[in-house]
Amino acid sequence: MIFENSLVFAKKLDLEDPIASYRDQFYFPKVNGAPAIYFAGNSLGLQPKHTADYVNEVMKDWADLAVEGHFHSNKSWVDYHERFTEPLSKIVGARPSEITVMNTLTVNLHLLMVSFYRPQGKRYKIICEEKAFPSDQYLVQSQVRFHGYTPEDAIVTIEKREGEHTFRTEDVIAKIKEVGDACALVFIGGVNYYTGQVFDMESITKAGHEIGALVGWDLAHAAGNVALHLHDWDVDFAAWCSYKYMNSGPGNASGCYIHERFHKDPDIPRFEGWWGTPKETRFLMKSEFEPIPTAEAWQLSNPPVLALAPYLASIQQFEAVGMEALIAKRNQIVAYLVFILEAVGKATQSNFEIITPSDPKARGTQLSVFLHGSGRALFDYLMDHGVILDWREPNVIRLAPVPLYCSYEDVFRFGSILKSGILQQ
Ligand SMILES: *Cc1c(COP(=O)(O)O)cnc(C)c1O
Repeated sequence: MIFENSLVFAKKLDLEDPIASYRDQFYFPKVNGAPAIYFAGNSLGLQPKHTADYVNEVMKDWADLAVEGHFHSNKSWVDYHERFTEPLSKIVGARPSEITVMNTLTVNLHLLMVSFYRPQGKRYKIICEEKAFPSDQYLVQSQVRFHGYTPEDAIVTIEKREGEHTFRTEDVIAKIKEVGDACALVFIGGVNYYTGQVFDMESITKAGHEIGALVGWDLAHAAGNVALHLHDWDVDFAAWCSYKYMNSGPGNASGCYIHERFHKDPDIPRFEGWWGTPKETRFLMKSEFEPIPTAEAWQLSNPPVLALAPYLASIQQFEAVGMEALIAKRNQIVAYLVFILEAVGKATQSNFEIITPSDPKARGTQLSVFLHGSGRALFDYLMDHGVILDWREPNVIRLAPVPLYCSYEDVFRFGSILKSGILQQ
């Protein structure tokens, strides 16, 4: 499509957008009394208007039914989390039995490490990307130390080439081959939080398996953002938070994927709790752990229903829209943002640089822009003028025109604000 840098054109794209009506289903924060241009949905998704109904339903059932709510409320609590498996399995490309929702992201990754990081003999190394999200770095460092190794020895990082902003798949695969049978686990963020780069998860998973390692993905920036086929890619395990692209509210629960080949493995180490046992026999209070033959065996506690309620509200909205429609709009709105950024760059003779890959297959919703010069002042200008986005040191702004609720008009108006901001510097 040939884009135009005009409000009329942006409005025309909005009129033609088949999922434009979803925008009205969200609350937008206000800046100076007007709804913001919200490009921070990669950090915290907006609140759908129907979310409060889901929370209030639980509050009311609790008031009216108390303990009976476990079995007799409008959405019974004992199996509240089971309502996620089918819709989430479509979002991440898995079998429903491979999905569960529990805890929060870093907690789940630690729990998954119990099963999937099992160093033995000379096979004890973990391969990660350099400058991974801090929580992932701490996770991996503490895991290797817990097993008696040092991070310097046991963690191998994949590096970017000098002068390049993103990782090359060939370099990732070469590193995997190089570490070979010393590698116990390959563990990478599927979409890089800093650059928005989407890794070639299928090829990397295959390369990991070829050297006999297990492969897991942190999908914090991927779930609800990019197409995933975890089962078909043969990924061993993955986890994601729900408050970024999945709009479940601050700090909310994490989704987990565990490939079905592990479900019936009687020898797999796992930290266990009563919610990992079949609900039919759970209340017999037996002393021996009997695992549910699905990813649910990894559940520990009875689900935090009040926290899950907003996630369920969001999941049902995703179910209605479908990932395909979201991705189709995402491709176009991100391309439009690139076009607008380039137009502003040219008009103002700025040297800012989009560091996200230009290949549509290697990017999702987020564009990261490296601002040479006085970036921080420009960021402050944008925030003061109604654009909510985020800042990452040393000089990067991250822009996520989330297809579910951002409009082409947002992108056009952002371009005008950016241009005046640059001209005033
Ligand atoms: C956002 C994010 C997290 C956050 O972890 P929590 O445990 O939910 O606080 C972890 N890893 C990555 C890659 C992230 O982007």
